Amino acid sequence: MSNIEQTLSIIKPDAVERNLENEIKQMFKDNGFQLVKEKKIQIEKSEAESFYKVHETKPFYNDLCAYLSSGPIVVMVLEKENAVIGNRELMGATNPNDAEVGTIRKKYGISIDKNSVHGSDSIENAKIEINFFFKD
Ligand code: UDP
Ligand code: MG
Repeated sequence: MSNIEQTLSIIKPDAVERNLENEIKQMFKDNGFQLVKEKKIQIEKSEAESFYKVHETKPFYNDLCAYLSSGPIVVMVLEKENAVIGNRELMGATNPNDAEVGTIRKKYGISIDKNSVHGSDSIENAKIEINFFFKD
């Protein structure tokens, strides 16, 4: 039975800054994801705070929000069978040092904060996050 899902992906400032946008998009395409929506934007810190509200009590919250709003990002809606878990697998572990060979974070991530990509962690959050960036 087919289970086509959509998930939200963000190419974070460290990767956009290093001109990795096309290489990372190619990794999604090579792994069967369709890029159904995308835009390059820079967000306000207040928007990053709202996006990452789930982390508001964490010690890294302020730096994380400052970072996500520090430069251009590419936000994308990715679609394929089981897209949410598939994207998490392709991204690799949060800390690039722990990420498996072949994952985006292993290949491109610099550190736990500059880990090149964001991906929704559940179907429910994917819907919320897609709606956050693509309201219509
Ligand atoms: N983060 C960080 N320090 C930490 C944990 C997380 O800077 O100790 C950042 C990291 O960039 C991560 C983001 O906060 O991607 C969100 O954390 P989460 O645990 O949701 O990781 P993810 O879902 O991105 O793998
Ligand atoms: Mg997360």
